[in-house]
Amino acid sequence: MTFMTTAKSMATLDAAIVGAGFAGLYMLHRLRELGFSARIYEAGSGVGGTWYWNRYPGARCDVESLEYSYTFSEELRKEWQWTERYAAQPEILRYLNHVADRFDLRRDIQFDTKIAVAVFNESEKQWLIETDGGDRVAATFCIMATGCLSAARVPDFEGLEIFQGKQYHTGHWPHEGVDFTGQRVAVIGTGSSGIQSIPVIAGQASQVYVFQRTPNFSVPAHNGPIAEDVKQDWQENGPKYRAIAESTPFGLLVQSKPAAHSALEVAAAERERVYEQGWQAGGFGMIAAFPDIVINRESNDTAAEFVRNKIRGIVRNPAVAEMLTPKDYPIATKRLCIDTGYFETYNRDNVTLIDARATPVEALTRTGLRTRDREFEVDSIVFATGFDAMTGALNGIEIRGRHGEALKEKWAAGPRTYLGLMAAGFPNLFTITGPGSPSVLSNMALSIEQHVEWIADCVAHLRDHGIATIEASAGAENEWLNHVNETAHQTLFPLANSWYMGANIPGKPRVFLPYIGGVPAYRQKCDEVAARGYEGFVLGERAARSPA
Ligand code: NAP
Repeated sequence: MTFMTTAKSMATLDAAIVGAGFAGLYMLHRLRELGFSARIYEAGSGVGGTWYWNRYPGARCDVESLEYSYTFSEELRKEWQWTERYAAQPEILRYLNHVADRFDLRRDIQFDTKIAVAVFNESEKQWLIETDGGDRVAATFCIMATGCLSAARVPDFEGLEIFQGKQYHTGHWPHEGVDFTGQRVAVIGTGSSGIQSIPVIAGQASQVYVFQRTPNFSVPAHNGPIAEDVKQDWQENGPKYRAIAESTPFGLLVQSKPAAHSALEVAAAERERVYEQGWQAGGFGMIAAFPDIVINRESNDTAAEFVRNKIRGIVRNPAVAEMLTPKDYPIATKRLCIDTGYFETYNRDNVTLIDARATPVEALTRTGLRTRDREFEVDSIVFATGFDAMTGALNGIEIRGRHGEALKEKWAAGPRTYLGLMAAGFPNLFTITGPGSPSVLSNMALSIEQHVEWIADCVAHLRDHGIATIEASAGAENEWLNHVNETAHQTLFPLANSWYMGANIPGKPRVFLPYIGGVPAYRQKCDEVAARGYEGFVLGERAARSPA
C-alpha cells in the first residue's frame, strides 16, 4: 500500500468526487442539495471533462444538443439555448461552465489536481485519498466521475521522441488551438475523432496523409442551426421528450419509432427508401430504423451495404473508395461515426489515404514517419488513436479496497461490477457510468443523470438509516457480469475489434465493457434493487456517527 502517512493534515468530507465533467458537476450539486459535504478533484484547470480536453478541430457531439443536456433543473433547461443541432466542443464547454457558475460549484472544485491513490481504511470506514500534490483527504464515499473515454492513448511507436515536428493527440488538444495552414500533416486513426477532424485539417493544410488501419462506417450529421419552432417545442416539452428517450434502448429519441419488424421483412426497395430517409435526416436514425440491425447479421448486411454504396458514390477514385469501405465487421458494432463532409474530403487533391493495415506505421523519424514501403515527411502528426476506454482512467489511480486489494488486479481479466455502479470488496466506492452499465451505449447525459440520482439516493438512504457502508455482494456481481456478457453475445457487437471490447489496447482483456441490455431494462433493474433495500448489495454495520 503506497498511501503516505507523512503528508499534510487531512481534510474530511462526506464525499470525494473525481472529475468535473458532466457527471462530477451534477454529483456535486446533488450531494450538496442533500446536505453532504463534497469536493471535486479535477486534473484539468477548468470544468468540462471530455469537453475540456477534446478541443481538436471539428470536435462536436454525436448526440443532438437538445438531448445532450441536463434535465434536473427546469430553470437551467429554460435559460440555455443551443445554437446547433450537434453542438461543437466550445459550445458544450460553455454550457458546462455555465452550469458550474449557475450552481456555484467552483468553490468545491480543486483544479489541476489528480487523484493518485485511494485506499479504503477498514477501521474508520473511510476512503483515504491522496492527490498528486500530496494533499490528503478522508471521505466516507469516493465517487469516480472519471469518464469513459478520458485516458488518451498514443501507440508506442518507435521514434516518438525523435520526431522534430509537432505531435498532438485529439484527446489532449492545445487550448490555444493549432493552425495547420501550409503544413504537411499526418493523421493516424479514423475513428470518430479522426473522421471529425480530418475534413477541417484538410481545409487548412497543404497536404494531409491519413493513416487508416480499419475503415469506419460513417453517416452524415446534416448539422445546422436549430429552428426556432424546434427550440420552442423543447422549451415546452423537454421533459416529455426525455421520458420518451428513457424508454428506448440507447436512450435516444431517434430510436423512439423503430419499425415493428425485421429489416428482412420488407422488400428491398422499401428498405432502401427507409435507409435513404435516415441518411438524409442525418445522425443515428439510419441504423435505428429496424430493431434487428445489431442482432441479425443478414439485416445488418442490408444497412452496411447501403452505406458502402454511399461511400462508393461519394468518393470519386474507385480504389480510394474501396479502401474507405468497411467490409469485415457489422455496421454499428464499432461506434458509428457521424460526420460532416468526411468521405468528400478524399476527393481533395491534398488528401492521401494510406492503408495502415497493409503497410503499418513502423516508426516516427526525425522528419516524419515510416511505413514498410515509404517515408513521409510531415510538419505535424495528429494521433486520433483513441482511448483506454472505460477502465483506463480508473486503473490509472491506485485504488485499494478491503484487505488492500487493488481494483486493477481485481479487474485484470476484465472489469467486474454490479450494475456498473460498485465492485465487491470496494465499499462506498461508486463509479458513475462504470463498466457494466449502458454508459457509452446510451445518451451519456441521460445515463449520467440516472447514476448520479441513484447514487445520491443511496447515500442519503445510508445516512438516514445510520448505515456505514454499502458494497456489491460477490454473488450479485457475478450474476451481473454473466448477464452483461450473455446479453452482449446475443448481439453482433463482439464481432468487431472495437474499444467496446477492449480490442484497441494491446494486452487488454477481450470482454464487452458496457451493458447492452438497453436503458429501460437497466433503469428498471436499478430502481427495483433500490426499492428492495439495495438488493445484491451488502449494507455494513451502523456508523458510530452517521455522515453529515
Ligand atoms: P477510436 O474510435 O478508438 O479510433 C482510434 C483510431 O485509431 C482507429 O481508427 C484505430 O484503428 C486507429 N489506431 C489505433 N492505433 C493505431 C495504430 N497503431 N496504427 C494505426 N491506427 C491506429 O478513437 P476516437 O476516434 O477518439 O473515438 C473514441 C470514441 O470517443 C468514439 O467511438 C466515440 O464514442 C467518442 N467520440 C465521440 C465523438 C462524437 O461525439 N462525435 C467524437 C470523438 C470521439 P483500428 O480501428 O484499426 O483500431
